[in-house]
Amino acid sequence: MSSANDALSDAAPIPFWTDRQDAPPMCSPLIGQISADLVIIGGGLTGLWAAISAREADPSRSVVLLEAKSIAFGASGRNGGFISESLTHGIAHGLAIWPVELETLLRMGRENLADIAKFIEAERIDAGLRLCGKTAVATKPHQVDQLRQSTKLHQRFGEDASFLDVEQVRADVDSPTYLAGMRLRSGSGLLDPAMLCWGLKRAALTRGVLIHETTEVTGVKISGSGLAVRTPLGAVRARQVLLATNAYPPLLRRLRSWVLPIYDHVLVTEPLSSTQLTDIGWLENQGMTDSGNQFHYYRRTPDDRILWGGYDAVYYFGNQTSAAREQRDRSHQLLANQFFDTFPQLRGLRFTHRWAGLIDSTSRFTPLIGTALDGRMAYSVGYTGLGVAASRFGALTALDLLAARSTERTRLTLVQKKPMRFPPEPLRYPTVQFTRAALAREDRTGKRGRWLRVLDRFGVGFNS
Ligand SMILES: Cc1cc2nc3c(=O)[nH]c(=O)nc-3n(C[C@H](O)[C@H](O)[C@H](O)COP(=O)(O)OP(=O)(O)OC[C@H]3O[C@@H](n4cnc5c(N)ncnc54)[C@H](O)[C@@H]3O)c2cc1C
Repeated sequence: MSSANDALSDAAPIPFWTDRQDAPPMCSPLIGQISADLVIIGGGLTGLWAAISAREADPSRSVVLLEAKSIAFGASGRNGGFISESLTHGIAHGLAIWPVELETLLRMGRENLADIAKFIEAERIDAGLRLCGKTAVATKPHQVDQLRQSTKLHQRFGEDASFLDVEQVRADVDSPTYLAGMRLRSGSGLLDPAMLCWGLKRAALTRGVLIHETTEVTGVKISGSGLAVRTPLGAVRARQVLLATNAYPPLLRRLRSWVLPIYDHVLVTEPLSSTQLTDIGWLENQGMTDSGNQFHYYRRTPDDRILWGGYDAVYYFGNQTSAAREQRDRSHQLLANQFFDTFPQLRGLRFTHRWAGLIDSTSRFTPLIGTALDGRMAYSVGYTGLGVAASRFGALTALDLLAARSTERTRLTLVQKKPMRFPPEPLRYPTVQFTRAALAREDRTGKRGRWLRVLDRFGVGFNS
Protein backbone atom coordinates (compact mmCIF):
# COMPACT_ATOMS: atom_id res chain seq x y z
CA MET A 1 0.00 0.00 0.00
CA SER A 2 2.80 2.44 0.78
CA SER A 3 3.71 3.27 -2.82
CA ALA A 4 0.00 3.87 -3.49
CA ASN A 5 -0.14 6.11 -0.42
CA ASP A 6 2.93 8.04 -1.58
CA ALA A 7 1.49 8.46 -5.06
CA LEU A 8 -1.78 9.74 -3.62
CA SER A 9 -0.38 11.97 -0.92
CA ASP A 10 -0.69 15.25 -2.85
CA ALA A 11 -3.84 14.42 -4.79
CA ALA A 12 -6.46 17.17 -4.57
CA PRO A 13 -9.83 15.80 -3.41
CA ILE A 14 -11.70 17.30 -6.35
CA PRO A 15 -12.67 16.25 -9.87
CA PHE A 16 -10.00 16.98 -12.48
CA TRP A 17 -12.40 18.23 -15.15
CA THR A 18 -13.90 21.10 -13.19
CA ASP A 19 -10.58 22.12 -11.57
CA ARG A 20 -9.80 24.98 -13.95
CA GLN A 21 -9.69 28.74 -13.93
CA ASP A 22 -11.87 29.32 -16.99
CA ALA A 23 -15.11 27.83 -15.59
CA PRO A 24 -18.03 30.04 -16.63
CA PRO A 25 -19.46 32.43 -14.02
CA MET A 26 -22.21 30.98 -11.85
CA CYS A 27 -25.82 32.02 -12.40
CA SER A 28 -27.46 33.64 -9.37
CA PRO A 29 -29.70 31.65 -7.01
CA LEU A 30 -33.45 31.94 -7.23
CA ILE A 31 -34.78 34.52 -4.80
CA GLY A 32 -38.52 35.18 -4.76
CA GLN A 33 -41.51 33.83 -6.65
CA ILE A 34 -41.58 33.28 -10.40
CA SER A 35 -43.61 31.20 -12.82
CA ALA A 36 -42.58 29.07 -15.79
CA ASP A 37 -44.01 26.66 -18.32
CA LEU A 38 -41.29 24.12 -17.60
CA VAL A 39 -38.98 23.76 -14.60
CA ILE A 40 -36.02 21.44 -15.00
CA ILE A 41 -34.44 20.22 -11.77
CA GLY A 42 -30.75 19.28 -12.08
CA GLY A 43 -28.02 20.95 -14.12
CA GLY A 44 -26.19 17.95 -15.49
CA LEU A 45 -26.31 16.66 -19.05
CA THR A 46 -29.92 15.45 -18.77
CA GLY A 47 -31.17 18.81 -17.50
CA LEU A 48 -29.12 20.84 -19.97
CA TRP A 49 -30.19 18.83 -23.02
CA ALA A 50 -33.81 19.00 -21.85
CA ALA A 51 -33.61 22.79 -21.43
CA ILE A 52 -32.06 23.34 -24.86
CA SER A 53 -34.44 20.98 -26.65
CA ALA A 54 -37.53 22.41 -24.92
CA ARG A 55 -36.68 25.93 -26.05
CA GLU A 56 -35.74 24.79 -29.55
CA ALA A 57 -39.05 22.94 -29.93
CA ASP A 58 -41.07 25.93 -28.69
CA PRO A 59 -39.21 29.23 -28.22
CA SER A 60 -42.31 30.76 -26.61
CA ARG A 61 -42.18 28.29 -23.72
CA SER A 62 -40.54 29.72 -20.57
CA VAL A 63 -37.95 27.27 -19.23
CA VAL A 64 -36.23 27.54 -15.85
CA LEU A 65 -33.39 25.24 -14.80
CA LEU A 66 -32.67 24.90 -11.07
CA GLU A 67 -29.38 23.36 -9.93
CA ALA A 68 -28.57 22.68 -6.27
CA LYS A 69 -24.82 23.33 -6.63
CA SER A 70 -23.36 24.34 -9.99
CA ILE A 71 -23.68 23.17 -13.58
CA ALA A 72 -21.51 20.04 -13.99
CA PHE A 73 -21.29 19.48 -10.23
CA GLY A 74 -22.77 15.98 -10.49
CA ALA A 75 -21.79 12.93 -12.52
CA SER A 76 -21.78 15.01 -15.70
CA GLY A 77 -18.68 16.91 -14.58
CA ARG A 78 -16.87 14.04 -12.89
CA ASN A 79 -17.12 11.11 -15.28
CA GLY A 80 -14.55 9.38 -17.47
CA GLY A 81 -15.53 11.32 -20.57
CA PHE A 82 -16.26 8.16 -22.58
CA ILE A 83 -19.14 8.87 -24.93
CA SER A 84 -20.94 5.83 -26.30
CA GLU A 85 -23.83 5.31 -28.68
CA SER A 86 -25.20 2.46 -26.55
CA LEU A 87 -28.60 2.87 -24.91
CA THR A 88 -28.55 -0.70 -23.61
CA HIS A 89 -25.30 -0.93 -21.66
CA GLY A 90 -23.62 -2.61 -24.59
CA ILE A 91 -24.76 -4.83 -27.44
CA ALA A 92 -24.61 -8.13 -25.55
CA HIS A 93 -26.81 -6.80 -22.76
CA GLY A 94 -29.25 -5.26 -25.26
CA LEU A 95 -29.48 -8.57 -27.09
CA ALA A 96 -30.16 -10.40 -23.83
CA ILE A 97 -33.01 -8.13 -22.70
CA TRP A 98 -34.57 -6.71 -25.89
CA PRO A 99 -33.57 -8.92 -28.84
CA VAL A 100 -36.48 -7.76 -31.01
CA GLU A 101 -35.87 -4.05 -30.48
CA LEU A 102 -32.09 -4.14 -30.49
CA GLU A 103 -31.68 -2.98 -34.12
CA THR A 104 -33.99 -0.02 -33.43
CA LEU A 105 -32.18 0.84 -30.20
CA LEU A 106 -28.83 0.67 -31.99
CA ARG A 107 -30.05 2.98 -34.74
CA MET A 108 -31.51 5.43 -32.22
CA GLY A 109 -28.29 5.36 -30.19
CA ARG A 110 -26.21 6.03 -33.31
CA GLU A 111 -28.48 8.90 -34.37
CA ASN A 112 -28.27 10.33 -30.85
CA LEU A 113 -24.47 10.25 -30.86
CA ALA A 114 -24.34 11.79 -34.36
CA ASP A 115 -26.72 14.58 -33.26
CA ILE A 116 -24.58 15.31 -30.20
CA ALA A 117 -21.47 15.55 -32.40
CA LYS A 118 -23.31 17.85 -34.83
CA PHE A 119 -24.51 20.09 -31.97
CA ILE A 120 -21.02 20.32 -30.46
CA GLU A 121 -19.63 21.36 -33.82
CA ALA A 122 -22.42 23.82 -34.65
CA GLU A 123 -22.15 25.49 -31.23
CA ARG A 124 -18.33 25.40 -31.33
CA ILE A 125 -18.20 23.67 -27.95
CA ASP A 126 -14.56 23.11 -27.10
CA ALA A 127 -15.06 19.67 -25.53
CA GLY A 128 -12.33 17.94 -27.53
CA LEU A 129 -14.74 15.32 -28.88
CA ARG A 130 -12.91 12.56 -30.74
CA LEU A 131 -14.91 9.59 -32.04
CA CYS A 132 -11.88 7.35 -31.64
CA GLY A 133 -13.61 4.23 -30.30
CA LYS A 134 -12.04 2.22 -27.52
CA THR A 135 -10.13 -0.95 -26.71
CA ALA A 136 -11.38 -3.58 -24.29
CA VAL A 137 -8.63 -5.79 -22.87
CA ALA A 138 -8.60 -9.28 -21.36
CA THR A 139 -6.54 -9.60 -18.20
CA LYS A 140 -7.73 -13.09 -17.21
CA PRO A 141 -7.46 -16.22 -19.40
CA HIS A 142 -11.23 -16.81 -19.47
CA GLN A 143 -11.78 -13.30 -20.84
CA VAL A 144 -9.78 -13.98 -24.02
CA ASP A 145 -12.46 -16.13 -25.61
CA GLN A 146 -15.17 -13.80 -24.32
CA LEU A 147 -13.49 -10.95 -26.21
CA ARG A 148 -13.24 -13.08 -29.34
CA GLN A 149 -17.01 -13.74 -29.14
CA SER A 150 -17.70 -10.10 -28.35
CA THR A 151 -15.73 -9.04 -31.44
CA LYS A 152 -17.94 -11.27 -33.62
CA LEU A 153 -21.07 -9.90 -31.97
CA HIS A 154 -20.02 -6.31 -32.59
CA GLN A 155 -19.20 -7.11 -36.21
CA ARG A 156 -22.61 -8.79 -36.64
CA PHE A 157 -24.30 -5.56 -35.57
CA GLY A 158 -22.27 -3.42 -37.94
CA GLU A 159 -19.54 -2.17 -35.62
CA ASP A 160 -15.92 -1.81 -36.72
CA ALA A 161 -14.40 -4.34 -34.32
CA SER A 162 -11.21 -6.39 -34.48
CA PHE A 163 -9.75 -8.98 -32.15
CA LEU A 164 -6.17 -8.37 -31.03
CA ASP A 165 -3.91 -11.17 -29.80
CA VAL A 166 -1.49 -10.54 -26.97
CA GLU A 167 1.29 -9.17 -29.24
CA GLN A 168 -1.09 -6.91 -31.11
CA VAL A 169 -2.72 -5.47 -28.02
CA ARG A 170 0.62 -4.87 -26.30
CA ALA A 171 2.03 -3.28 -29.44
CA ASP A 172 -0.79 -0.74 -29.12
CA VAL A 173 -0.82 -0.12 -25.35
CA ASP A 174 1.80 -1.93 -23.33
CA SER A 175 0.81 -3.62 -20.10
CA PRO A 176 2.14 -6.97 -18.88
CA THR A 177 -1.39 -7.75 -17.63
CA TYR A 178 -2.94 -7.80 -21.14
CA LEU A 179 -3.72 -11.16 -22.71
CA ALA A 180 -5.83 -10.00 -25.67
CA GLY A 181 -7.94 -7.08 -26.81
CA MET A 182 -10.88 -5.95 -28.89
CA ARG A 183 -10.34 -2.71 -30.77
CA LEU A 184 -13.65 -1.00 -31.48
CA ARG A 185 -13.24 1.88 -33.88
CA SER A 186 -16.91 2.83 -34.17
CA GLY A 187 -19.68 3.78 -31.77
CA SER A 188 -17.80 5.68 -29.12
CA GLY A 189 -15.18 8.26 -28.31
CA LEU A 190 -13.81 10.61 -25.72
CA LEU A 191 -14.45 14.17 -24.65
CA ASP A 192 -14.00 16.62 -21.80
CA PRO A 193 -17.30 16.28 -19.90
CA ALA A 194 -17.13 19.57 -17.98
CA MET A 195 -16.41 21.53 -21.15
CA LEU A 196 -19.42 19.82 -22.73
CA CYS A 197 -21.64 20.84 -19.79
CA TRP A 198 -20.38 24.40 -19.84
CA GLY A 199 -20.87 24.61 -23.61
CA LEU A 200 -24.43 23.34 -23.20
CA LYS A 201 -24.98 25.87 -20.42
CA ARG A 202 -23.97 28.65 -22.83
CA ALA A 203 -26.24 27.20 -25.54
CA ALA A 204 -29.14 27.03 -23.06
CA LEU A 205 -28.64 30.63 -21.91
CA THR A 206 -28.41 31.81 -25.53
CA ARG A 207 -31.75 30.14 -26.21
CA GLY A 208 -33.40 32.00 -23.34
CA VAL A 209 -33.33 29.37 -20.60
CA LEU A 210 -33.29 30.95 -17.13
CA ILE A 211 -30.69 29.14 -15.00
CA HIS A 212 -30.40 29.42 -11.22
CA GLU A 213 -27.44 27.71 -9.57
CA THR A 214 -26.99 27.09 -5.82
CA THR A 215 -30.76 26.55 -5.80
CA GLU A 216 -31.77 23.24 -4.29
CA VAL A 217 -35.34 22.23 -4.87
CA THR A 218 -36.81 21.06 -1.57
CA GLY A 219 -40.21 19.95 -2.75
CA VAL A 220 -42.61 19.67 -5.68
CA LYS A 221 -46.36 19.28 -5.28
CA ILE A 222 -49.53 19.61 -7.28
CA SER A 223 -51.03 23.05 -6.99
CA GLY A 224 -54.16 23.98 -8.96
CA SER A 225 -53.63 23.11 -12.61
CA GLY A 226 -49.81 23.11 -12.25
CA LEU A 227 -47.03 22.35 -9.81
CA ALA A 228 -45.49 24.29 -6.94
CA VAL A 229 -41.70 24.01 -6.84
CA ARG A 230 -40.13 25.03 -3.53
CA THR A 231 -36.56 26.26 -3.01
CA PRO A 232 -34.91 27.69 0.14
CA LEU A 233 -35.27 31.32 -0.95
CA GLY A 234 -38.06 31.18 -3.50
CA ALA A 235 -40.63 29.21 -5.41
CA VAL A 236 -41.73 28.56 -8.97
CA ARG A 237 -45.27 28.08 -10.17
CA ALA A 238 -44.76 25.66 -13.02
CA ARG A 239 -46.98 24.04 -15.59
CA GLN A 240 -44.59 21.07 -15.83
CA VAL A 241 -41.43 19.74 -14.19
CA LEU A 242 -38.65 17.56 -15.55
CA LEU A 243 -36.62 15.75 -12.92
CA ALA A 244 -32.97 15.26 -13.91
CA THR A 245 -31.37 14.58 -10.54
CA ASN A 246 -29.50 11.32 -11.20
CA ALA A 247 -29.04 9.29 -7.99
CA TYR A 248 -29.25 12.26 -5.62
CA PRO A 249 -32.02 11.94 -3.01
CA PRO A 250 -35.09 11.92 -5.24
CA LEU A 251 -37.86 14.48 -4.94
CA LEU A 252 -40.14 11.72 -6.16
CA ARG A 253 -39.95 9.08 -3.45
CA ARG A 254 -40.85 6.13 -5.65
CA LEU A 255 -37.55 6.48 -7.59
CA ARG A 256 -35.74 5.11 -4.53
CA SER A 257 -37.01 1.64 -5.28
CA TRP A 258 -35.62 1.63 -8.82
CA VAL A 259 -32.37 3.56 -8.49
CA LEU A 260 -29.36 2.52 -6.45
CA PRO A 261 -26.88 5.35 -5.71
CA ILE A 262 -23.44 3.86 -6.26
CA TYR A 263 -20.19 5.75 -5.66
CA ASP A 264 -17.65 5.23 -8.44
CA HIS A 265 -14.06 6.35 -7.76
CA VAL A 266 -11.56 8.04 -10.06
CA LEU A 267 -7.90 9.11 -10.04
CA VAL A 268 -5.97 11.35 -12.39
CA THR A 269 -2.16 11.36 -12.63
CA GLU A 270 0.26 14.17 -13.24
CA PRO A 271 1.17 14.64 -16.94
CA LEU A 272 3.39 11.87 -18.31
CA SER A 273 6.87 12.70 -19.60
CA SER A 274 7.69 11.86 -23.20
CA THR A 275 9.73 8.85 -21.99
CA GLN A 276 6.78 7.57 -19.95
CA LEU A 277 4.52 8.01 -22.95
CA THR A 278 6.93 6.08 -25.15
CA ASP A 279 7.01 3.32 -22.53
CA ILE A 280 3.29 2.67 -22.78
CA GLY A 281 2.67 3.44 -26.48
CA TRP A 282 -1.05 4.24 -26.75
CA LEU A 283 -0.49 6.10 -30.01
CA GLU A 284 -4.17 6.05 -31.02
CA ASN A 285 -5.07 7.71 -27.74
CA GLN A 286 -8.35 5.82 -27.44
CA GLY A 287 -10.36 4.94 -24.34
CA MET A 288 -9.51 1.67 -22.59
CA THR A 289 -11.49 -0.69 -20.39
CA ASP A 290 -10.79 -4.08 -18.96
CA SER A 291 -13.33 -6.84 -19.24
CA GLY A 292 -14.53 -8.01 -15.83
CA ASN A 293 -17.81 -7.31 -14.09
CA GLN A 294 -15.73 -5.00 -11.92
CA PHE A 295 -13.82 -3.12 -14.57
CA HIS A 296 -11.50 -0.15 -14.90
CA TYR A 297 -11.95 2.56 -17.50
CA TYR A 298 -8.98 4.70 -18.40
CA ARG A 299 -7.91 7.29 -20.89
CA ARG A 300 -5.40 10.01 -21.54
CA THR A 301 -6.41 13.61 -20.93
CA PRO A 302 -5.59 16.36 -23.44
CA ASP A 303 -2.50 17.27 -21.37
CA ASP A 304 -1.31 13.63 -21.25
CA ARG A 305 -2.32 12.63 -17.79
CA ILE A 306 -4.08 9.30 -17.28
CA LEU A 307 -7.58 9.20 -15.83
CA TRP A 308 -8.08 5.84 -14.14
CA GLY A 309 -11.44 4.93 -12.60
CA GLY A 310 -14.03 2.30 -11.85
CA TYR A 311 -13.73 -1.17 -10.33
CA ASP A 312 -14.73 -0.51 -6.72
CA ALA A 313 -18.35 0.64 -6.94
CA VAL A 314 -19.67 1.25 -3.41
CA TYR A 315 -23.25 1.24 -2.15
CA TYR A 316 -23.96 2.62 1.34
CA PHE A 317 -26.79 1.31 3.53
CA GLY A 318 -30.10 3.12 3.10
CA ASN A 319 -29.20 4.83 -0.21
CA GLN A 320 -26.93 7.20 1.73
CA THR A 321 -25.31 9.99 -0.24
CA SER A 322 -23.18 12.82 1.09
CA ALA A 323 -20.18 14.94 0.15
CA ALA A 324 -18.05 12.89 2.59
CA ARG A 325 -18.61 9.81 0.39
CA GLU A 326 -16.72 11.48 -2.45
CA GLN A 327 -13.44 10.51 -0.80
CA ARG A 328 -12.71 6.92 0.24
CA ASP A 329 -9.10 6.07 1.02
CA ARG A 330 -9.62 2.34 0.64
CA SER A 331 -11.07 2.66 -2.87
CA HIS A 332 -8.52 5.24 -4.01
CA GLN A 333 -5.60 3.15 -2.67
CA LEU A 334 -6.96 0.05 -4.36
CA LEU A 335 -7.24 1.97 -7.63
CA ALA A 336 -3.69 3.32 -7.27
CA ASN A 337 -2.28 -0.17 -6.66
CA GLN A 338 -4.18 -1.58 -9.62
CA PHE A 339 -2.88 1.27 -11.78
CA PHE A 340 0.74 0.38 -11.01
CA ASP A 341 0.03 -3.34 -11.49
CA THR A 342 -1.27 -2.47 -14.96
CA PHE A 343 1.54 -0.04 -15.81
CA PRO A 344 4.58 -1.01 -13.69
CA GLN A 345 6.72 1.10 -16.02
CA LEU A 346 4.96 4.17 -14.58
CA ARG A 347 5.91 3.56 -10.93
CA GLY A 348 6.86 6.86 -9.36
CA LEU A 349 4.12 8.73 -11.19
CA ARG A 350 1.93 10.76 -8.82
CA PHE A 351 -1.79 11.34 -8.73
CA THR A 352 -3.00 14.94 -8.73
CA HIS A 353 -6.77 14.42 -8.38
CA ARG A 354 -9.02 11.89 -6.62
CA TRP A 355 -12.78 11.92 -6.35
CA ALA A 356 -15.93 9.85 -6.54
CA GLY A 357 -19.24 10.46 -8.23
CA LEU A 358 -22.74 9.11 -8.03
CA ILE A 359 -23.90 6.49 -10.47
CA ASP A 360 -27.64 5.87 -10.75
CA SER A 361 -27.82 2.13 -11.19
CA THR A 362 -31.04 0.38 -12.15
CA SER A 363 -31.48 -3.37 -11.94
CA ARG A 364 -31.67 -3.48 -15.75
CA PHE A 365 -28.64 -1.21 -16.34
CA THR A 366 -30.78 0.99 -18.59
CA PRO A 367 -32.42 4.37 -17.93
CA LEU A 368 -35.71 4.82 -16.15
CA ILE A 369 -37.90 7.35 -17.95
CA GLY A 370 -41.48 8.03 -16.92
CA THR A 371 -44.06 10.43 -15.55
CA ALA A 372 -45.66 11.23 -12.20
CA LEU A 373 -48.04 13.76 -10.61
CA ASP A 374 -50.80 13.35 -13.19
CA GLY A 375 -48.35 13.54 -16.09
CA ARG A 376 -47.15 17.01 -15.03
CA MET A 377 -43.74 15.68 -14.01
CA ALA A 378 -41.39 13.54 -16.10
CA TYR A 379 -38.09 12.02 -14.99
CA SER A 380 -35.08 10.51 -16.69
CA VAL A 381 -32.55 8.84 -14.40
CA GLY A 382 -30.77 5.49 -14.10
CA TYR A 383 -28.13 5.56 -16.84
CA THR A 384 -26.04 3.10 -14.79
CA GLY A 385 -22.66 4.61 -15.62
CA LEU A 386 -23.25 5.12 -19.32
CA GLY A 387 -25.05 8.42 -19.53
CA VAL A 388 -22.79 10.89 -21.32
CA ALA A 389 -24.70 10.35 -24.57
CA ALA A 390 -27.78 8.50 -23.28
CA SER A 391 -28.68 11.53 -21.12
CA ARG A 392 -29.68 13.42 -24.28
CA PHE A 393 -31.87 10.52 -25.37
CA GLY A 394 -33.41 10.42 -21.87
CA ALA A 395 -34.06 14.17 -21.90
CA LEU A 396 -35.78 14.04 -25.30
CA THR A 397 -37.90 11.08 -24.24
CA ALA A 398 -38.95 12.80 -21.02
CA LEU A 399 -39.99 15.86 -23.07
CA ASP A 400 -42.03 13.59 -25.37
CA LEU A 401 -43.78 12.18 -22.30
CA LEU A 402 -44.53 15.63 -20.91
CA ALA A 403 -46.06 16.58 -24.25
CA ALA A 404 -48.11 13.33 -24.17
CA ARG A 405 -46.61 12.57 -27.60
CA SER A 406 -46.44 8.98 -28.76
CA THR A 407 -43.06 8.72 -30.48
CA GLU A 408 -40.67 5.97 -31.52
CA ARG A 409 -38.81 6.77 -28.30
CA THR A 410 -41.79 6.57 -25.95
CA ARG A 411 -43.03 3.34 -27.54
CA LEU A 412 -39.83 1.48 -26.67
CA THR A 413 -40.08 -1.27 -24.07
CA LEU A 414 -37.25 0.61 -22.32
CA VAL A 415 -39.82 3.34 -21.58
CA GLN A 416 -43.01 1.32 -21.39
CA LYS A 417 -41.77 -1.31 -18.95
CA LYS A 418 -40.04 -0.43 -15.70
CA PRO A 419 -37.01 -2.42 -14.47
CA MET A 420 -37.45 -4.68 -11.48
CA ARG A 421 -37.32 -2.79 -8.17
CA PHE A 422 -34.47 -3.32 -5.72
CA PRO A 423 -35.63 -4.73 -2.37
CA PRO A 424 -36.08 -2.18 0.43
CA GLU A 425 -33.67 -1.98 3.38
CA PRO A 426 -32.66 -3.81 5.48
CA LEU A 427 -32.59 -6.36 2.62
CA ARG A 428 -31.13 -4.07 -0.01
CA TYR A 429 -27.64 -3.67 1.46
CA PRO A 430 -26.90 -7.39 2.04
CA THR A 431 -28.36 -8.24 -1.37
CA VAL A 432 -26.03 -5.76 -3.05
CA GLN A 433 -23.02 -7.06 -1.09
CA PHE A 434 -23.91 -10.66 -1.88
CA THR A 435 -24.25 -9.83 -5.57
CA ARG A 436 -20.96 -7.91 -5.58
CA ALA A 437 -19.20 -10.92 -4.05
CA ALA A 438 -20.75 -13.22 -6.69
CA LEU A 439 -19.59 -10.88 -9.48
CA ALA A 440 -16.06 -10.73 -8.04
CA ARG A 441 -16.02 -14.53 -7.85
CA GLU A 442 -16.98 -14.75 -11.51
CA ASP A 443 -14.20 -12.30 -12.37
CA ARG A 444 -11.69 -14.53 -10.58
CA THR A 445 -12.87 -17.91 -11.79
CA GLY A 446 -14.71 -17.25 -15.06
CA LYS A 447 -17.67 -19.22 -13.69
CA ARG A 448 -21.11 -17.64 -13.38
CA GLY A 449 -22.44 -18.84 -10.06
CA ARG A 450 -25.99 -19.86 -9.22
CA TRP A 451 -27.04 -16.49 -7.73
CA LEU A 452 -26.00 -14.59 -10.87
CA ARG A 453 -27.79 -17.11 -13.07
CA VAL A 454 -30.97 -16.58 -11.06
CA LEU A 455 -30.62 -12.80 -11.48
CA ASP A 456 -30.00 -13.27 -15.21
CA ARG A 457 -33.32 -15.07 -15.49
CA PHE A 458 -35.06 -12.01 -14.06
CA GLY A 459 -32.95 -9.56 -16.07
CA VAL A 460 -31.48 -8.13 -12.85
CA GLY A 461 -27.94 -7.07 -12.02
CA PHE A 462 -25.68 -4.69 -10.18
CA ASN A 463 -23.22 -2.62 -12.13
CA SER A 464 -21.41 0.68 -12.37
C1 LIG B 1 -17.27 8.59 -11.68
C2 LIG B 1 -18.20 8.45 -12.85
C3 LIG B 1 -17.70 8.06 -14.09
C4 LIG B 1 -18.57 7.96 -15.18
N1 LIG B 1 -18.04 7.70 -16.42
C5 LIG B 1 -18.85 7.72 -17.50
C6 LIG B 1 -18.31 7.62 -18.80
O1 LIG B 1 -17.10 7.62 -18.99
N2 LIG B 1 -19.19 7.57 -19.85
C7 LIG B 1 -20.53 7.64 -19.67
O2 LIG B 1 -21.29 7.57 -20.65
N3 LIG B 1 -21.07 7.80 -18.45
C8 LIG B 1 -20.26 7.87 -17.37
N4 LIG B 1 -20.79 8.09 -16.14
C9 LIG B 1 -22.23 8.34 -16.03
C10 LIG B 1 -22.61 9.74 -16.50
O3 LIG B 1 -21.70 10.69 -16.00
C11 LIG B 1 -24.02 10.06 -16.03
O4 LIG B 1 -24.90 9.05 -16.45
C12 LIG B 1 -24.54 11.38 -16.55
O5 LIG B 1 -23.62 12.42 -16.38
C13 LIG B 1 -25.86 11.69 -15.84
O6 LIG B 1 -26.22 13.03 -16.07
P1 LIG B 1 -27.41 13.65 -15.24
O7 LIG B 1 -27.60 15.01 -15.74
O8 LIG B 1 -28.58 12.73 -15.30
O9 LIG B 1 -26.90 13.63 -13.74
P2 LIG B 1 -25.88 14.62 -12.97
O10 LIG B 1 -24.80 15.10 -13.85
O11 LIG B 1 -25.50 13.95 -11.71
O12 LIG B 1 -26.79 15.87 -12.65
C14 LIG B 1 -27.77 15.86 -11.65
C15 LIG B 1 -27.75 17.23 -11.02
O13 LIG B 1 -28.90 17.37 -10.21
C16 LIG B 1 -28.55 18.20 -9.14
N5 LIG B 1 -29.56 18.02 -8.08
C17 LIG B 1 -29.79 16.92 -7.35
N6 LIG B 1 -30.82 17.11 -6.51
C18 LIG B 1 -31.26 18.37 -6.72
C19 LIG B 1 -32.30 19.16 -6.16
N7 LIG B 1 -33.09 18.69 -5.18
N8 LIG B 1 -32.47 20.42 -6.61
C20 LIG B 1 -31.68 20.92 -7.60
N9 LIG B 1 -30.68 20.21 -8.16
C21 LIG B 1 -30.47 18.94 -7.73
C22 LIG B 1 -27.16 17.75 -8.75
O14 LIG B 1 -26.46 18.75 -8.02
C23 LIG B 1 -26.56 17.46 -10.12
O15 LIG B 1 -25.80 18.56 -10.61
C24 LIG B 1 -19.95 8.19 -15.02
C25 LIG B 1 -20.46 8.57 -13.77
C26 LIG B 1 -19.59 8.71 -12.69
C27 LIG B 1 -20.13 9.15 -11.37
